[in-house]
Amino acid sequence: MPASRGLRGGLFLFCWLLSTVLSAQSAEPAAELLRRADQIKTSDHAGFVSLLGKLDRQSEALSEKQRHYLRYLQGWKHVYDGKYEASIPLLQDVATESSDPTLRFRAGTTVVNVLALATRYKEAFSKLSGVLDLLPSIPDGTAREQGLGVAAYLYNQVGEYELGLRYASRLIEENWAGRGTCNGGQLKFEALYKSGKLTEITDELIDAVDSCEQIGETIYANQIRTYIAHLHIDQGRFGTAVKFLNEHYGEVLESRYPHLTAEYDSLLAAAYHRSGNPNMARRHALSAIENGVQEQHTAPGVAAYKLLYELAQERGDFKLALNYQTKYMIASRAYLDDVSARQIAYEKVKHEILANQLQIDALNKQNEILQLERENNRLYIALLVSILAFIALWAYKTKRLQMHFMRLSQKDGLTGIANRPHFIDRAGQLLELGRKNEQELCVVLCDLDYFKAINDRYGHAAGDFVLKKAVDVCQSQMRPQDLFGRFGGEEFGIVLAGCELDVARQRCDQLRAAIESVTAVEFGMHSNVTASFGIASTKISGYELRMLLAHADSALYQAKREGRNCVVAYDLKRGSIESLAERTEQQAGAA
Ligand code: GH3
Ligand code: MG
Ligand code: MG
Repeated sequence: MPASRGLRGGLFLFCWLLSTVLSAQSAEPAAELLRRADQIKTSDHAGFVSLLGKLDRQSEALSEKQRHYLRYLQGWKHVYDGKYEASIPLLQDVATESSDPTLRFRAGTTVVNVLALATRYKEAFSKLSGVLDLLPSIPDGTAREQGLGVAAYLYNQVGEYELGLRYASRLIEENWAGRGTCNGGQLKFEALYKSGKLTEITDELIDAVDSCEQIGETIYANQIRTYIAHLHIDQGRFGTAVKFLNEHYGEVLESRYPHLTAEYDSLLAAAYHRSGNPNMARRHALSAIENGVQEQHTAPGVAAYKLLYELAQERGDFKLALNYQTKYMIASRAYLDDVSARQIAYEKVKHEILANQLQIDALNKQNEILQLERENNRLYIALLVSILAFIALWAYKTKRLQMHFMRLSQKDGLTGIANRPHFIDRAGQLLELGRKNEQELCVVLCDLDYFKAINDRYGHAAGDFVLKKAVDVCQSQMRPQDLFGRFGGEEFGIVLAGCELDVARQRCDQLRAAIESVTAVEFGMHSNVTASFGIASTKISGYELRMLLAHADSALYQAKREGRNCVVAYDLKRGSIESLAERTEQQAGAA
C-alpha cells in the first residue's frame, strides 16, 4: 500500500512538474510570439499573419492578458484588411476589458483610427479626446507613438494641419525606438504638403524616406515619396515624376495596401498624361479605380475618373466621356460630402467638449462654495462667488460666440444662403422626415449658363453681382419649407419638400424665367443671364441624398447638352431623361 501510495504521489508530482514545464514552455513562446507579431505588423504582413495563426492555435494555453493582446492584434489585422466593422467590437472589447492600461490605451487609439477609416467621424473625435486625456499617464513608448500618430492623422484628415503638425513633431521629438523620424515624418510631410507649405524637396524629406527604409517601414517610405512625386508634377517635371514613381511601383503593389496603390496609380496616370502618353495614363487611371479602396470615394479615385473623362474627350469618344463624367461627378460629390462630414463632426465634438468642460468647472466651484459655507469662511466664499460669476459670464460669451460661428459656418459668404455642408446636413434631415411621413420631395440642381464668359467679358465683380441678383430673384419665390443653398461657383441646390415632380417642374421653370430677367447694366452688361435645371424626385430616386444628387446632376448635364436655359427631370421609369426643353420646343412648333 505504501508503495502504491508512493507511486501515486510520485506520479502526481511528475504530472504537476510536467504541466508546469509545459505551461512555462507555452507561455514563454506565446509572449515572444505576441511581441514579435506586434513588432512586424506593419513591416512584414505575411510574417504577421503567420504568427497570428500560430497564436490562434494555442489560444487555449494563453493567459487572460495574452488573450487580450492576441484579440488586439486580430482586430488590427481586420483593420489592415479593410474589414473595419469586424475590427471595432474586438478592439472595443480590449479597450474596456483588458487589465493592462497600456493595452487598453493602444486598443482605444486603434478604435479611433478605425472609426475614422469607417467614416464614423463623430465617434472617432469623441474617443480621440478621451485618448489624448490619457496620454500624459502612459509611459510606454509604443503606445505613446500610436496615440500621437492617431491624433496627427485625424487632425490632418479634417484639415487642422497646425494641430496635425504639432502631434507629428512630438512623434519626431520622442523618436521612440528610432521610429519617430519615419512615422512622425510621414504625418508631418502630409500636413505640410496639404497645407501648401511643402514647396521643395528638402534634405529632411529625403532623410525621412531613408529612415523609413532603415526600419523596414516600406509603406511609410512610399507614402512620403508620394509628396515628392506631387512636387515633381506640381512643378512641371513630368518625366522625372514618371521615372521616380515607376522605381517604387512594384514595391507598392507588393504592399497590397489599396490606399497607397491607388495613390501611386493616380499619380502615375497624371504624370503620364501630362508627359503626352495617354495610353499609360489610361491604364494607371483604370488601375487606380480597380485596385483602389472599394466602397469608399477617395481623392485618387476621383482624380482617376476625371482623367478618364478627359482622355475619352480628347480621343473624341463622347459617349464614354459622358459615362466617365457622370461617374466623376458622383465620386467627387461623395468625396466632398465625406470631407465636409469630417469637418462638421470635428466642430461638433469640439463644441461639446468645451461646453462640458465649462459645466464641470462651474459645478466644481459650486461644490467648493457649499463646503466653505459649512465652514463659514466668508472671504473665500466671496472670492469663489466672483470666480463662479466669471465662469458663468465666460460660458455665456463662449456660447454666443459658438452660435455666431455656427451661423457663420452655415452661410455662403457671398449670397447669404446655405453653404454646401449646411445644405447637405439640412437636406439629409428633410429627406429623413419625408421618408417617415411618406412624402414626396424633389431635389434640384441649378447652374448658371456660360457664367465664365460673364466673368471674362465684364469682370469678376460683375459675376459676383449677377450671382447675388440671381439668388435674390430665386429666393423671393421660395416657400418657408424650401431649402436653398449654394454648392460653390455658380451652382445651386434646392430641396422642395412635399412637392410632386410636375409641380417641381413648373416651379423650376418659374425660377428659370426669373433668372432670365437678371442683367448687370451697371457693369455694361445688357444681355440676360440664363440657367439650366436638373430635377430628381424621391418617387424615382428614393430618399438617399447621394442618389438624388447624382440623378439631378445627370439631368442638369442633359439640360446643358440640350442647349441650356431649360429644365430637365430625371425619369428612370422611361429609362431616359425627359426634357421640358423638348416639350417646349414641340409646343412652340405646334403653335
Ligand atoms: P456652363 O454653361 O457649361 O455651366 O458654363 P460655365 O461657364 O457657366 O461653367 P464653368 O464651370 O466653365 O465656369 C464657371 C465659372 O464660375 C468659373 C469660375 O471662374 C466662376 N466662378 C466660380 N465662383 C465664382 C464667384 O464666386 N464669383 C465669380 N464672379 N465667379 C465665380
Ligand atoms: Mg455654369
Ligand atoms: Mg458650374
